[in-house]
Amino acid sequence: MKLAARVNQVSPSLTLAISAKAKEMKASGIDVCSFSAGEPDFPTPQHVCDAAKKALDEGKTKYGAVAGELALREAIANKLKTFNKLDYSAQNIIVTNGGKFSLYNLMQTLVEEGDEVIIPAPFWLSYPQMVKLAGGTPIVVDTKADTNYKITPEQLQAVITPRTKLFILNSPSNPTGTVYSPSEIRALAKLVVDNDILVVSDEIYENILYDDAEHLSIGAVSPEVFQRTILCNGFAKSYSMTGWRIGYTAASEEIIGAMGKIQSHSTSNVCTFAQYGAIAALNESQECVQTMLKAFTERREYICQAINNIEQLSCPRPDGAFYVFVDISKTGKKSLDFCSTLLESEQVAAIPGIAFGADDCIRMSYATDMETIKKGIARLERFVSSLG
Ligand code: GLU
Repeated sequence: MKLAARVNQVSPSLTLAISAKAKEMKASGIDVCSFSAGEPDFPTPQHVCDAAKKALDEGKTKYGAVAGELALREAIANKLKTFNKLDYSAQNIIVTNGGKFSLYNLMQTLVEEGDEVIIPAPFWLSYPQMVKLAGGTPIVVDTKADTNYKITPEQLQAVITPRTKLFILNSPSNPTGTVYSPSEIRALAKLVVDNDILVVSDEIYENILYDDAEHLSIGAVSPEVFQRTILCNGFAKSYSMTGWRIGYTAASEEIIGAMGKIQSHSTSNVCTFAQYGAIAALNESQECVQTMLKAFTERREYICQAINNIEQLSCPRPDGAFYVFVDISKTGKKSLDFCSTLLESEQVAAIPGIAFGADDCIRMSYATDMETIKKGIARLERFVSSLG
């Protein structure tokens, strides 16, 4: 049998593959310390579950509008107005099967053969794959730890061509935890407008910020950049709703309408009663977000210090999200080899940096409990010293 050529252009998602493997090992009784997927270890807040259960009991179990329940799109528009200073209405919002399908659908909607999409590296591993699946060309721009893994305006300008369709901005960033300051966002916004390109702003980690890091939505910089912005976000990280699969895109009615067409022939609406949980997440108490942030803050302190205390490893202090991006170059190993031997010999799961465009690094998620972090770091230390 001959599979479609597009399948051979992409590889399976390593974040999902490694976290599935770690879960499988755990289920078979192996004591694994998993730092793999970015999946908060907290339960979904009770009031969110209650709202979904109530919707289920009320019979919200049928097909719904392809773009999502109106009440949810209104709640999202209201949140974007209040917290992000973005003037969207329900017509500018589509609810998707996770933040991931927002991005996938968007690439299908906007990108075609010959289009270039600028992606700063290290990047979330699915961006280039989604661009390729849409027939476009990812233009990867390397950034380094000494510039805090940020693309500079000069670097961005240098890769813009007449074929540039989109620039993907992800702040706070997965996998590095870097957060662009408001003035850095403004400088990038100016280039988006001057060069008349579109920017996709993936803001899924917007609530996970440390110390005095500040999140500015690029669309809020000016009306000119707002018109050129497509915002993607979701409920998974902020409200520990990874398995619910609820994300959204906010953009012009033209883009949202086009995404609706793709959605109507692919996933249709997101699970109807689940959307009522999302409404409660946005409209009710935000204390749960703060509780998780407090725990992530403590874990960040611990893990950063512990890793930087290991002689051959180092990592910058993340300003947001819940990942440390660890430089392993002094161990002499490349990331795939490092992670597979680490899992085999010490039962510690981490994601090889090669998946994010940085083979000298590994990504460790600290959205896991402190006991696992402590145990896993001790094993990591033993592993690194065994390398000599
Ligand atoms: N976005 C999360 C991560 O990077 C979840 C897994 C995935 O979809 O990639 O770990």
